[in-house]
Amino acid sequence: MTDEYQKSGPRRVGQVKEVTSLSNPIIKDIKALTNKKDREESGTFMAEGLKLVIDALELGWSIRTLVYAKAAKGKPLVGQVAAKTVAHGGLVLEVSEKVLSSITRRDNPQMVVGIFEQRWKKLDDLRPGRDETLVALDRVRDPGNLGTIIRTADAAGASGVILIGECTDPFSLETVRATMGSVFAVPVVKCSAEEFLNWQKRSGVQVVATHLAGAVDYRTVDYTKKPAVLLMGNEQSGLPDNLARAADRTVRIPQQGRADSLNLAVASAVMLFEARRHLLTLDEKK
Ligand code: SAM
Repeated sequence: MTDEYQKSGPRRVGQVKEVTSLSNPIIKDIKALTNKKDREESGTFMAEGLKLVIDALELGWSIRTLVYAKAAKGKPLVGQVAAKTVAHGGLVLEVSEKVLSSITRRDNPQMVVGIFEQRWKKLDDLRPGRDETLVALDRVRDPGNLGTIIRTADAAGASGVILIGECTDPFSLETVRATMGSVFAVPVVKCSAEEFLNWQKRSGVQVVATHLAGAVDYRTVDYTKKPAVLLMGNEQSGLPDNLARAADRTVRIPQQGRADSLNLAVASAVMLFEARRHLLTLDEKK
């Protein structure tokens, strides 16, 4: 990686550069962000689309580099985000469509791409109140599932997503795409199973674990008694015993038909909106 993408290394002061060569070292660094190791090293990630970049800037995310297609030059909104990027000391690249395609690995790329600094929360930053819900995912593997869950958590008004154990990266291109921008709105925490269990004891939350063998119908739980953490298992193996045993409730979504289980993102959506329904009912009673 060149200095451009090193966390603590020097950064170029705001400027606009025109790039047409695929072998330009800055372009090579941006393309390397498809690798988890390079994202971790640089602490950055890529998000595609003008709307996403505008939303991210509005939410206070730090932009390192803005890349836009030559064809987008002169568009007022692109000019505004370019000016903001420069004002924050970031770099602005005007590139050919060929370069944008190779960065995003798409034939019809978006006109604008932003490289942002990653943001992680810590477990103790989460201090959920009684009317809040979080979702905790045990070793989620599929980027599409994770992105969909972050998007759904956002839509259901959840206050964060906790990633337990070895999970797929929320900042991969595929996950960010699937979040449709919600990656910028929902705090994400990563921790080990042990750290989660310790936090569970001290944080005053109720953990509602979902399990195919759960004894309780998910609709019968009071999600408003304490802040609820909806705990979801891994796509292949489900929840491990240590996490399931430590939960306050272990619930099942009753199914019909021949399917063994629901897809993880679908089960998470059912749970998130059930918890939301309880909170909305509570609001109506006030
Ligand atoms: N073979 C896995 C098993 O035996 O648990 C299936 C895992 S399922 C694809 C992924 C996760 O979605 C589960 O661990 C659970 O958290 C949730 N899930 C899916 N269907 C569910 C249901 N009907 N009731 C409760 N949780 C469910």
